[in-house]
Amino acid sequence: MAGLQVQVIGAGIVGLATAAALLQRGCSVTIIDREGVAAGASQGNAAAIAWTDVAPLASPGIWKDAIGWLADPLGPLTVRPAYALKILPWMLRFIGASSPSRVAASTVALAALNKDAYPAWDRLWKASGTHNQVRHEGCLEVFDNRSKLERARSFWAEQRDYGIEVQELTSAEVLELEPELADHVVGGALIPGWAQVDDPHILCRSLAGWLEGQGVLFETGEVMSVEPTAEGARLVLKNGETRDADHVVVACGAWSKKLAAGLGDNVPLDTERGYNITVPNPGLKLGRFVMLPGHGFVLSPLSTGLRIGGAVEFGGLDLAPNWARVDAMISKARKLFPCLDASEGKRWMGFRPSLPDSLPVIGPSSVSPRIIYAFGHAHHGLTQSATTGELVTSLVFGEKPVTDLAPFSAQRF
Ligand SMILES: Cc1cc2nc3c(=O)[nH]c(=O)nc-3n(C[C@H](O)[C@H](O)[C@H](O)COP(=O)(O)OP(=O)(O)OC[C@H]3O[C@@H](n4cnc5c(N)ncnc54)[C@H](O)[C@@H]3O)c2cc1C
Repeated sequence: MAGLQVQVIGAGIVGLATAAALLQRGCSVTIIDREGVAAGASQGNAAAIAWTDVAPLASPGIWKDAIGWLADPLGPLTVRPAYALKILPWMLRFIGASSPSRVAASTVALAALNKDAYPAWDRLWKASGTHNQVRHEGCLEVFDNRSKLERARSFWAEQRDYGIEVQELTSAEVLELEPELADHVVGGALIPGWAQVDDPHILCRSLAGWLEGQGVLFETGEVMSVEPTAEGARLVLKNGETRDADHVVVACGAWSKKLAAGLGDNVPLDTERGYNITVPNPGLKLGRFVMLPGHGFVLSPLSTGLRIGGAVEFGGLDLAPNWARVDAMISKARKLFPCLDASEGKRWMGFRPSLPDSLPVIGPSSVSPRIIYAFGHAHHGLTQSATTGELVTSLVFGEKPVTDLAPFSAQRF
């Protein structure tokens, strides 16, 4: 089976990690991207290897928060009015996925996928020589609201059920870990197993450089459609050219919907847009990744600066960014970190590829087992990319994947 020709569409972290896994099994791999390496969400995310997160976004409790959040156009969750009707079918599916039984099923599936997320990354970091870009200071969840802290305990209990260590901390213990926090913090938790990378863009570029050195070909081109052939699959590019391969992997993040639809798989993929700012000189030094679950954003110390951001905006792929969202997060962050100076920094908006049940699509297309999907990783695409690449590679070689892929099927909708 070695020597299989595989075309990977999309040079985001999922495409790169998939190419790496295929390469290590002896495949000849070409990655084609319409823009280049890490042009999408993989460029500016918060850098977390958050394998310790097992709860889907859709949860019975989310509506308690969502109603308050939606009332604030700059809050953690917003719908752009121009996109409200378009996102409605996704929202209805999201509500359906928030029932206790569906949430329980999504949690089991996410925990199974995340179980191998860190080991798979460890293998990839070591193979590619990028292991010096990873840090293990854990994640500190910080609360300034007592009722939100109390509700977080059920999430922590669930994480512990999956063997994940969560250390609940008093406000004094939180302040001891991060002394620059304001003293109205009411408590928090440390998740020591959480890891983060120095900068996701640098990691992507390093991986791409290593892949290229190992013989993976990178091509610039926009894929308009994918079709099965007698021997494998064919890509049709915007310039009319075609590319044939034994297998094709669709890893186009938030832009994968059209290619899947062309193959008969109507996947309800949409985007949760996220915003951040990266501040080279923030006036404070954090010891670790800080999450503010009650406010829907994080502070991630990168090698390139302090990245502040997160939030969810439903606004599709085409509407212009609303940078006021970044300003709103900065002023909230300053209430918790009074010395924060975010007067200079680089603003960014990215498109999380999201399915209503918070599970990605990993598996074959309906038309051919040689056309495989790897998209829809939403908030956890960096985290889950290395294991996704290994799972896709198992499918290419006709092996039984180590994780049951039924919950991730494109045909589940
Ligand atoms: C604000 C924010 C913070 C985040 N923080 C984290 C985090 O801390 N940890 C984590 O695990 N995840 C995080 N995520 C999620 C993560 O960034 C994404 O899930 C992940 O980057 C998706 O990777 P991808 O390769 O699937 O897609 P992308 O990175 O979007 O890549 C898709 C690629 O496909 C290309 N493409 C699209 N269509 C075509 C076509 N027709 N032909 C050719 N090429 C095409 C694009 O140019 C692009 O390069 C965050 C996301 C956001 C927005």
